[in-house]
Amino acid sequence: MGILRGAMEGSRLRGVLAVPGTAVEIPYTDLRGATDGPTLLVSGGVHGGEYPGIAAAIELARTLDPASLRGRVIVLHLTNPPAFWAKSQYYTPLDGKNLNRCFPGDAEGTASERIAARVIGVLHEANAWIDMHGGDIHEELVPFTIFSDRGQDDVRSRAAEMAAAYGIPRLVRSASVAGGSYAAAAELGVPAILPEAGQGGELDPVSQAIHVHGVQNVLRALGMLPGGPPPKPDPTVYTRFVWRRAPEAGLWRPRVHPGTTVSAGEVAGVLHDAYGDTLHEVRSPERGEVLFTARSLAIGEDDPLFAVAAP
Ligand SMILES: [Zn+2]
Repeated sequence: MGILRGAMEGSRLRGVLAVPGTAVEIPYTDLRGATDGPTLLVSGGVHGGEYPGIAAAIELARTLDPASLRGRVIVLHLTNPPAFWAKSQYYTPLDGKNLNRCFPGDAEGTASERIAARVIGVLHEANAWIDMHGGDIHEELVPFTIFSDRGQDDVRSRAAEMAAAYGIPRLVRSASVAGGSYAAAAELGVPAILPEAGQGGELDPVSQAIHVHGVQNVLRALGMLPGGPPPKPDPTVYTRFVWRRAPEAGLWRPRVHPGTTVSAGEVAGVLHDAYGDTLHEVRSPERGEVLFTARSLAIGEDDPLFAVAAP
């Protein structure tokens, strides 16, 4: 039975997942297919301002048909409600932590750590995880899908297959950020991917559709929906994914856009003070494609400024 009780074969059950020791309740839908098969966990809103992934989770929960499903899909619509309602970028307002640095979590810890532990409790019932993200409220981003370079060989190869099936033509094989969702999953032997689409606190229908079609494509690739995944052009696979963070707080003026190529040593943006005097010219660490940039004028110390991906 497990953590989510009551669902029957061929059913769509809605509920809320309470996080013990907090007032947090995560809305979910548990879709039980007509026949046995794998269980896929799908989450939106680990970061509360990444709206297309949240809207895609809701759309999938409403539109996936249990009668045509083999196995089970558990959808967490809004994984971090406190961050969503606070319109908070990156951080959970209850403890100031980034939920996607808190996995596998701690059931006795702070609010973010407890949310993470509750999600991992659900993951124990799953064979695969798609954790939908995007550019946050003050980020500009081109779509890409991250999969983990950690874990056993078969877990890595299954995650790579899921990432390719999702359909975004940029893949990033990542050595895994500590506390990230796909890294924690890999440690538990569960293949996981983190697709990113959308930006700037906008709910744009194109990014929402990228996520909806991506999850459907993975379901077909896993044999959970009828039909094979649509053929994809060869994706670009990046193995280097280098972030630049602010060495100190300042006012940020990026000079590059996601989707463009920067050279090693090229000035990708400038941090200046409130008088307009330059504090830092921030250079790209290597030649590659810019995948996201911060678009906020206000930048705190250690905030992400941009990321460059290279083969
Ligand atoms: Zn995110």
